[in-house]
Amino acid sequence: MIVGVPTEVKKDEYRVAMLPVGVEELIADGHRVVVQTGAGLGSGLADHDYLKAGAEIVATADDVFAAADLIVKVKEPQPEEYLRIRKGQWLFTYFHFAASRELTEAMVRSGATCLAYETLRDPSGRLPLLTPMSEVAGRMSVQQGAKYLERPQLGRGILLGGVPGVPPAHITVLGGGVVGANAAKIAAGFRADVAILDVNLDRLRYLDDTMPPNVNVLYSDRHTVLEQLARADLVIGSVLIPGAKAPQLVRKEDLRLMKSGSVVIDVAIDQGGCIETSRPTTHSEPTFVVDEVVHYCVTNMPGAVGRTSTFALCNATLPWVRRIADADQATLVQDASIRSAMNIHDHGVTNEAVARAFDMEC
Ligand code: NAD
Repeated sequence: MIVGVPTEVKKDEYRVAMLPVGVEELIADGHRVVVQTGAGLGSGLADHDYLKAGAEIVATADDVFAAADLIVKVKEPQPEEYLRIRKGQWLFTYFHFAASRELTEAMVRSGATCLAYETLRDPSGRLPLLTPMSEVAGRMSVQQGAKYLERPQLGRGILLGGVPGVPPAHITVLGGGVVGANAAKIAAGFRADVAILDVNLDRLRYLDDTMPPNVNVLYSDRHTVLEQLARADLVIGSVLIPGAKAPQLVRKEDLRLMKSGSVVIDVAIDQGGCIETSRPTTHSEPTFVVDEVVHYCVTNMPGAVGRTSTFALCNATLPWVRRIADADQATLVQDASIRSAMNIHDHGVTNEAVARAFDMEC
């Protein structure tokens, strides 16, 4: 099979979908790998790294899409890429179809098979291709929060860890899943005073057992959320109800409880956000201010730390790329994990949630 790796074209996206080691392994499995020139540059990977691994470097995205049976990407196809995708081709990438009717209709029209990272479930029911990016975003949220709490960035002028004689920042993390636990751990390392809230009691018990002593684990009800908003210098939004729009735990009128110059990092913005006043932003213009609270709502946070994210993503995706490349199509459609990733096949939507989002047949 010919596997193709184009350069990502989404704004501020610096990741690439395959490392040179991935090329090497696919070639050892008997495949060919075609990489667009410069595809790895945003992650510090040069063409010669791919050449050394055995890749064929081609000049344009058109060349990659024309040659490959399987396209491996990071972000959903952008409008300029739609027409390059052809019937019978397989695509393996993040799609987030429910967020875009235009993308869904374009992929149905193309006749390609779309395998989405975000819906692929392993045999234990986990979502192994979402986890690494949640780890990155969770850890990065504290880094961004620290930056935007600085006065020149319109924050309160607070150092997360305080200093002897001056208290540290109070950080409230809404949602104690992968993003939340990673955020809390890094915030605790800064010596901040941290509270992490969740509604899942088993998860709260686990967090209580594993978090350092400067992290308090609290049940998330409206009363506690409001109490926390009044105390917090930094709020990190990381709740998720799988498949659904994020619940809005912070309403517009709640912002008046918050201190002037406090910061909200709404990581859950890709599912609509858990703060009512959030709206999607980009790395070029990441923040805006509402009622004196700085909001950071970047939908592809891991893209900014492209090198770390590329390695984290490719570590997780490579075994699945090899599995897809090695099997014939008939075997693949019998594979439960691959079926869970399949959102569109042969001009039809094959994922119920996506079909429901747009009133389409499944
Ligand atoms: P997760 O499923 O691991 O964790 C979500 C947690 O939220 C769960 O523990 C759940 O019990 C909890 N929760 C649900 N309702 C709650 C409520 N009312 N109050 C408190 N907690 C509640 O999910 P995750 O991997 O941590 O992802 C969180 C969000 O971050 C998702 O929307 C994900 O798509 C998003 N994300 C965004 C970016 C980005 O770049 N912006 C990157 C990665 C992930």
